[in-house]
Amino acid sequence: MDEPDLFQFLTKLNTGDLVWLVAVLMREKPIATLVVPFEVGEWFRAFCEKRHLVRFEDKSLDPHHTRVVVCRDKETAELYRKLGEIRSLFDDIRHSSIISHPNEARDEFIASLTRFEGRMYGYPECCIELHAESGPSSRARAYEELLESGKDRSIPIEFWAVAHAPCSSTCDETLALGRKYFDAVAELSEALRCHIEARLLLPRFYQTGGGRFIELQSLDYDRCRGDVAVSMEQFEKDAVEKLPKPISTVLCEVPHPRALVCAQEDAPYKTSFPNPDMVGTMWLAYSPGFGAYMVNAKTGQLALYIINDKWIEKVGEEWRSKSNFRVYRSVTGSSHEWKKDVIGFEKTL
Ligand SMILES: [Zn+2]
Repeated sequence: MDEPDLFQFLTKLNTGDLVWLVAVLMREKPIATLVVPFEVGEWFRAFCEKRHLVRFEDKSLDPHHTRVVVCRDKETAELYRKLGEIRSLFDDIRHSSIISHPNEARDEFIASLTRFEGRMYGYPECCIELHAESGPSSRARAYEELLESGKDRSIPIEFWAVAHAPCSSTCDETLALGRKYFDAVAELSEALRCHIEARLLLPRFYQTGGGRFIELQSLDYDRCRGDVAVSMEQFEKDAVEKLPKPISTVLCEVPHPRALVCAQEDAPYKTSFPNPDMVGTMWLAYSPGFGAYMVNAKTGQLALYIINDKWIEKVGEEWRSKSNFRVYRSVTGSSHEWKKDVIGFEKTL
């Protein structure tokens, strides 16, 4: 496959998946779990075969994507299979009435399994340890530190290039791993590196400090005024009725996120995130740490309406964090200065 074909195919993947696939391909990462659009499924299969990568189709995520595991060699694939069997066996028996009570041995077993899996994926020991000890919600800690240090608007893009949750906002191991992945991408294709860097520099809105986010390409309302059905004045009026001040608002283009979530919703809220209705030209309003409101700027259709209490009720108290419902911004490792044209046209009410 020559470079133009390779580029066209690879750029159909979401940015993170693209980085992790290249990292596996270039032998910098043992294994990656990727989200692959059905439209490139056959290309993806041929790509892995030609490059001697071991590939498993894990499961269909939604009508558009499937989850695929890619390993750099047969030994890693075998380890993945065995650990998967142990986890599913354990999931089957953990609800048994004999061991259903809080149980130290069970918790230790889960933590050990998490450590094995983290090492298999090539994650740093410090980050594996935090995850094993404190569980998935501990990932909010790095985002809280970013806010406290005022670095939430100048995050090194290496932070987004890794597949794991960093143990802290300044984890050197994480930043070094991100740089290693970038070097692997640059070695494969400089054009691909530029494409990935441009995507990672986009501001990203998090509903939680977890791995689900949407990227934003902010738009100039004065230029787009003729193309949108919902005026700035109307959107601001609606946002103020739904969220407490201070509220940040932005007109933006939202690219297709990594995966989409659909669910039955109780009006007036719409809490699934990211959901298929939030792709395209959107008005986004958010009260940092409290909630968010989003509508399609061209149709007026509701895309998201969530406040903290509704969210916590759904996901559990351990996910409560001031880092929720915020936009985070990035810089390239070389300049560490954010660019005005990347940040765009956000407004505070
Ligand atoms: Zn770490």
